[in-house]
Amino acid sequence: MSTKVAVVTGSNKGIGFAIVRGLCKRFAGVVYLTSRDVTRGRNAVEQLEKEGLKPNYHQLDITDEKSIETFRDYLKQKYGGLDVLVNNAAIAFKHDAPDPASVQAEQTLFVNYFSLLSACNILFPILRDGARVVNISSSCGHLSHIPSEKLRQRLQEPTLTIEELSQLLKQYVEAAKNGTQAAEWGNSSYVVSKVGVTALTKIQQRMLADRDIKVNSVHPGYVDTDMTSHKGPLTIDEGAVAPLFLALDAADSVKGEFVWYNKDIVSWNGPYPSK
Ligand code: NAP
Repeated sequence: MSTKVAVVTGSNKGIGFAIVRGLCKRFAGVVYLTSRDVTRGRNAVEQLEKEGLKPNYHQLDITDEKSIETFRDYLKQKYGGLDVLVNNAAIAFKHDAPDPASVQAEQTLFVNYFSLLSACNILFPILRDGARVVNISSSCGHLSHIPSEKLRQRLQEPTLTIEELSQLLKQYVEAAKNGTQAAEWGNSSYVVSKVGVTALTKIQQRMLADRDIKVNSVHPGYVDTDMTSHKGPLTIDEGAVAPLFLALDAADSVKGEFVWYNKDIVSWNGPYPSK
């Protein structure tokens, strides 16, 4: 039997790091901690080794297609495939960031949606039967955050394709450049990027309907990390609970869902889940 392989993007710190820690403890196979910066990644591996865990390491910058392709080729050659992919890497501008909305929109969508999509486009062909993909979304990825009824309808259409979704998100970036995004899309590029990730998850699961592959998105909770300026009440290990549940434990029937940090499946296009 071939060795099973799990990969977490952006896992040198924060929730991704804790997901690697949890996978090292429970996943029956090799676990890859990956990072865009090799030194930060190696330091993170060392930290887990001090805890008696044995993560593997590979460089992976999701904004760099060459980096993703190099990693895919390495995995394919060494193991023949991939069994768990956690798309965790993301960025968020701080609330008081001086960067104009146009820059925030372009960069946030580029990393959180378009680069996550590149990683999927390049890595999905080596997913093995039985594979699980976990897209780390956010409470911000709930559809109710989008003000325009017309857009909400469009984003949840059961026939929406990835190309059409990407086109809509490009239109958002263009609108942000013209300063006309707020009425339809709201004021947060992070929200739009995570709504995009959640919508993408549903399309990906539809496209994989004839394969034994589960794709789900998850809100990990409000977590004490650099991204939240350490304001979140949950520890990184608590933030890793729901992602690990989807990567390892969720019933096979859980497919294309949006899952809350307490492991509840929530209605993406229903009312915003109560606290
Ligand atoms: P974090 O502490 O800022 O960690 C983000 C990780 O992503 C870092 O390892 C970072 O690497 C990496 N990264 C950024 N750009 C990358 C790229 N181009 N290629 C590869 N890695 C990249 O954030 P976090 O709070 O753990 O967030 C993890 C995930 O949970 C994100 O998807 C976030 O949106 C989501 N989330 C977080 C919260 C929360 O309360 N914290 C709530 C909801 C959702 P560097 O160290 O090199 O920057």
